[in-house]
Amino acid sequence: MRCPYCHNPDTRVADSRLVGEGDQVRRRRQCPACGERFTTHETPELVMPRVVKSDGRREPFDEDKLRLGFRRALEKRPVETEAIEAAVRRVCKHVSGAGEREIPANRIGEYVMEELRELDGVAYVRFASVYRRFEDVGAFREVIEGLEQSRPRDDE
Ligand SMILES: [Zn+2]
Repeated sequence: MRCPYCHNPDTRVADSRLVGEGDQVRRRRQCPACGERFTTHETPELVMPRVVKSDGRREPFDEDKLRLGFRRALEKRPVETEAIEAAVRRVCKHVSGAGEREIPANRIGEYVMEELRELDGVAYVRFASVYRRFEDVGAFREVIEGLEQSRPRDDE
């Protein structure tokens, strides 16, 4: 990689380590010409399928929209930004991991629900009530039972 300081075409990797949940590599590089150091981050490029809405419209997968959905559900809840980011990354991985060209929007909703169930019970019920609209008592019971089955949190 070219040095961003002196534009020397070759730089050396001085250090390389995994960050996040091991899905990112951070490299410290040094330029042999000018001696400057800089850092690069390497992440796999995920090929995201198109999202099929319930009315049949297609739209590109939008990670920011996904993040916003999490933030909205977790508003004023004691969940760290880092935990939300990890959940967003996991959902992205599920979405791309299916290896399909299109994915129904409601399947992404299910992935989000799974993550929220682990993150915060209140946010989970909040999201599920909007998402599934609790059309009947059975749907509500299903959500509450899902909550009771999830593992207890260590910090509570
Ligand atoms: Zn340089």
